[in-house]
Amino acid sequence: MKKAFCLFCILLLLGTAAQADVVEDTWVCLKCGMESSGNACVTCNEPRGVWACVDCGTRNLSGVCSNCGKEKKASLTQQAEDSRMLFALPAVHYLAAEGDAVNLTRLARYYEKGLGLPQDAQKTVSCLRTAGESGYAPAYVYLARLYDAGITLEQNYTLAFEYYRKASEMGSAEAFWYLGSFYEEGTGVQRDYELARDYYLKAAELGDADAWMSIAYLCLHGKGMDADPAKAMEYYEKAASLGSALACDYVGYVYMNGTLAPQDPAKGIEWYRKAAELGNARSMYALGYAYQSGQGVEASLEEALRWYEKAALAGHSNALLVWEALR
Ligand SMILES: [Zn+2]
Ligand SMILES: [Zn+2]
Repeated sequence: MKKAFCLFCILLLLGTAAQADVVEDTWVCLKCGMESSGNACVTCNEPRGVWACVDCGTRNLSGVCSNCGKEKKASLTQQAEDSRMLFALPAVHYLAAEGDAVNLTRLARYYEKGLGLPQDAQKTVSCLRTAGESGYAPAYVYLARLYDAGITLEQNYTLAFEYYRKASEMGSAEAFWYLGSFYEEGTGVQRDYELARDYYLKAAELGDADAWMSIAYLCLHGKGMDADPAKAMEYYEKAASLGSALACDYVGYVYMNGTLAPQDPAKGIEWYRKAAELGNARSMYALGYAYQSGQGVEASLEEALRWYEKAALAGHSNALLVWEALR
């Protein structure tokens, strides 16, 4: 039987089509960071397209701040980089909506945590996939870590591996390190220390100093290579000299305690200082202890307090207790 449309049906169809045409596109409000449509924000009533200059606070409509001359794009980029997440949100959301991969990756964090926007696991994933597809490897690493951790998303080692692999193909040192750790731990794959070593080496070649620590560990325990403590120590020192804070701290520990190399407290202190400069809280605490006990340095309660305080400020919880007790 032939399908026939009556005039009424055709009018109805045309009407639907016309209605679809007038659906306005959504835009991101630069005051509250929410999506809106129409000429004013449905959440805060700010007119469409108004932006507040990050330097002087002036509200503008045109592309350049009328008060200080700052360009809109520069203002938004600066705002999006601000560490105060709620302050940064409108700019992050706006730039992400324009398809900017770095800001799509930032926006994922807001959806993941429900920060300033409703928590939304699906949107978290779609932001990261879009950013990854456009060639931004950190987005895939982030997505892989979500599947790996299984907190925001249901744990899925196969997908985690897949996204680490994609990111590694894009040259991400971090992704190579994670692939190595999957093979070392046997997470979702058959444990394979030699493959682990190869992936760690790739990460190290790409500039991940911490990866030398993982290689050192395999070497120390004879996994994927012959056990060789002297060689392992060389790898630890390599990681440290390349700027791995963790390795500086560990090498400091080795020289303080004579575990993998002959005890040499002066050297230990030197490495602890390097690690502390790189922000390592454990080394700051260790320096506090060294000054308290006079190990490798002349004992000084004042210096000990200074280092315990630094360690506490860097987030070392035991340092806070010791600092309070000593004071
Ligand atoms: Zn708004
Ligand atoms: Zn301005």
